[in-house]
Amino acid sequence: MRILAIREKTVALGSASRNSSIGFGGMTASALAIHTDAVRDGRPVVGLAFDSIGRYGHGGLLRERFIPRLAEASSESYSDGSGGIDPHKAWALVMADEKPGGHGERCGAVGLIDAALWDLKAKLAGVPLWKLLAEVSGQAADGHVPVYASGGHYRDVDDIKLLCADISRAVDEGHRRFKIKIGGVALAEDVARVAAIHALLGPGMSLAVDGNGTFDREKTLRYVEALAPFALAWIEEPVHPLDYDLHREIAAASPLPLATGENLFSRDDARNLLRHGGLRPERDMLQFDISLSYGLVEYLRILDDLETHRWSRQRCAPHAGHLFAAHGVGGLGLGLAEVAMDQASLFGSLTAHLVVRDGKAVLPDRPGVGLETCPPFQMIFENLLQ
Ligand SMILES: [Mg+2]
Repeated sequence: MRILAIREKTVALGSASRNSSIGFGGMTASALAIHTDAVRDGRPVVGLAFDSIGRYGHGGLLRERFIPRLAEASSESYSDGSGGIDPHKAWALVMADEKPGGHGERCGAVGLIDAALWDLKAKLAGVPLWKLLAEVSGQAADGHVPVYASGGHYRDVDDIKLLCADISRAVDEGHRRFKIKIGGVALAEDVARVAAIHALLGPGMSLAVDGNGTFDREKTLRYVEALAPFALAWIEEPVHPLDYDLHREIAAASPLPLATGENLFSRDDARNLLRHGGLRPERDMLQFDISLSYGLVEYLRILDDLETHRWSRQRCAPHAGHLFAAHGVGGLGLGLAEVAMDQASLFGSLTAHLVVRDGKAVLPDRPGVGLETCPPFQMIFENLLQ
């Protein structure tokens, strides 16, 4: 199998939503297609990927250096030896001449190529990605993935009423776990939002909250105390993602589970969090975003480090990542996948078609990731497929 061309397209994800840290009006994401000379069922095999949300598109870096390194490599250099592709070999080609550390934006660019390589590998093998990953990692998998519905951004008018309507709709869709934003209004208003949702939850349902890394020590401790009566699933990124000392202080003081890691984009950063962040393996959650963190090749290394530090894979709930991350959760034996509650947004529409029953989503059974099954597929990938 030979790679014939690799094409990128930058897509506007713009939405009016805000969290306590940023607005999403100018948000973009990259779509990627790796064209090959392989044929299955009479059609050329194309590896596809679409960015996770939150770090903008990666078109510049991809076109300038990462796509050419792979596109110009010999097919022997990325072959798995039996007509397929080896994502680990291809990843090493893409990362040639890159210095260690200082990961910047390149981890998302490389992660997007990695995601398309795994889609390609699964398509060549004729299996869905979750099944391929289960084989690679020796995990049991049945294509049903525990998910939580994520949203709860602030609205200017009728905020709590609309928030409760969102949660009720998600309950009707089959969801059992939910996450909303905190920190965008005063503490008393956030407590009122949490209380309103808490009153809607039935047995076996849970709520988590997300501060998007904007709180200081004192504010975090005030929130932990005020939210104690609600038995929340976790408080996410209350403090700056790179302040490990402060994480350790908060973990020592908070009975509430902490979740963090979505803004750490490498094995190096993940390992530093495990070493120095004081997080509790029996309670806290790790949210490294798979495709924003150099992709599955790097995520498998992170999982090795988790084992060294005696963390269970069940404590992993990768940030966002739509269908691709859900395959990762399902195939690698991780704890939870995140799906966007707002299915009207472009990013939310990527997983809007998944059937959810009793808090578990059913992954597509077609070869690859199944991005072709997503409602906005044509809009995102048009011009990349010719
Ligand atoms: Mg978050």
